[in-house]
Amino acid sequence: MKKIIVAGAGFVGVCCALELAKKGFDVTLVDRNQPGEEASFGNAGIICNSGIHPLASTTIKHQLPSLATNRDTRFRLHWPHFPSLLPWLGQFLGNCNDTANSHGTAALSYLLRHSVSHHRELLHESNAIRYLNDTGWLRLYRDDAGFEDTKEERLRYERNGVSFRIVNAQDIAELEPHLIRQYAKGIWLDGTPTVTNPSAVCKAYTALFISLGGTFKQGTISHITQTRSGWELTTQEENMASTDIVVAMGASSPLLLKTTKLKNRIAIERGYHYLYQPLANKPLTRSIIDTHAGFVLTPMEMGIRATSAVELVAKHTRPTPRQINALIPEIQNTFPLGKQLLDKPWMGHRPSTPDSLPIIGPTPHRDGLWQAFGHGHLGLTLGPTTGKWIADTISGKPIDAQQKAFLPERFE
Ligand SMILES: Cc1cc2nc3c(=O)[nH]c(=O)nc-3n(C[C@H](O)[C@H](O)[C@H](O)COP(=O)(O)OP(=O)(O)OC[C@H]3O[C@@H](n4cnc5c(N)ncnc54)[C@H](O)[C@@H]3O)c2cc1C
Repeated sequence: MKKIIVAGAGFVGVCCALELAKKGFDVTLVDRNQPGEEASFGNAGIICNSGIHPLASTTIKHQLPSLATNRDTRFRLHWPHFPSLLPWLGQFLGNCNDTANSHGTAALSYLLRHSVSHHRELLHESNAIRYLNDTGWLRLYRDDAGFEDTKEERLRYERNGVSFRIVNAQDIAELEPHLIRQYAKGIWLDGTPTVTNPSAVCKAYTALFISLGGTFKQGTISHITQTRSGWELTTQEENMASTDIVVAMGASSPLLLKTTKLKNRIAIERGYHYLYQPLANKPLTRSIIDTHAGFVLTPMEMGIRATSAVELVAKHTRPTPRQINALIPEIQNTFPLGKQLLDKPWMGHRPSTPDSLPIIGPTPHRDGLWQAFGHGHLGLTLGPTTGKWIADTISGKPIDAQQKAFLPERFE
């Protein structure tokens, strides 16, 4: 049976390894950490089947000059990286038009349509269903104008079968009675669940992979080399040979692909989180987003996690948590929270493509090299679906017309 190495054990890599093992391949999963310790650790936990809108849009294009002043808590540009971000920004702006945006919405809707059922299946199989919170995701608007701006978004939800309900101030107070802030309107995405411990779910999926005969090895990967019979992957400890390699190292994937002379196509959208002790008798029932300030509060097993939106950087560099720190008063004025539980904010890297579509599929001119990264804001959501696509394609299933939108070759 074919020997396959999966590089990276975040949600995407673990699910690729798991689906390949289910098909009977001899799979080794390699990571420098234990599974689910980087971006897949500290996210907002939303299985965001409603994330059908690409970031690149005419609206964001018009907002960019004001966002770039770094006064809006929803976005921060890391100015020292501006020159190296220019090629990515150029491509991103090229996608800020209605045609590319509609194309992206159609592609994402197709990719996301089974994301919840795929997770549900794995949560059951891995005995981790207790982590699923099925109360939906609540998008909150401080005023009517903010809500009215979502008209097109709601139309797209309707067209693409995304379940939601419009809620008013009274409904919101009934759904989340302990909110401090009054919201005018909300969109309750009642079919969008969350998980209450993303890293534990990722580890449960890994345990399932191992129970199916898969191997997990810890090691820092330095490079990959094409050989006569396939590929060789090098860690500090050893060289490993395989017929195929799946690169699923999230935001670090370009560094590895560079060792086989492939260009970088992603930027990094950093996000931070703080963790608060819940107050007795004041539970938060479901994940909420304050769309005005751009933070998400999610009830998790270990406390209430407050995540920030986007800090755009070109590469890994030291944390600059100004954005999340500026959000602290907003967060505290939204929901009653106990003690903050972290010494410093957690930081993670969302690997983001200029067209907001992940990169999934074979690498042109590099037989046996597969790419599965660039999932941006949707990596937890899309891990299982990506795993199935990669495993099906490696098994010889033809790529269908809709999957073509995600192929690495679009950047060649
Ligand atoms: C604040 C925040 C909130 C988010 N909220 C959500 C959400 O609600 N829903 C959602 O779907 N997504 C969310 N995301 C995005 C999501 O977390 C990511 O898209 C997803 O985790 C990416 O998964 P991945 O497997 O591609 O990458 P990662 O989880 O980053 O995994 C990559 C793996 O590669 C390993 N690695 C890297 N370099 C090496 C090396 N040299 N050698 C060996 N191993 C290496 C790392 O250790 C890591 O385990 C959020 C992200 C952030 C930052």
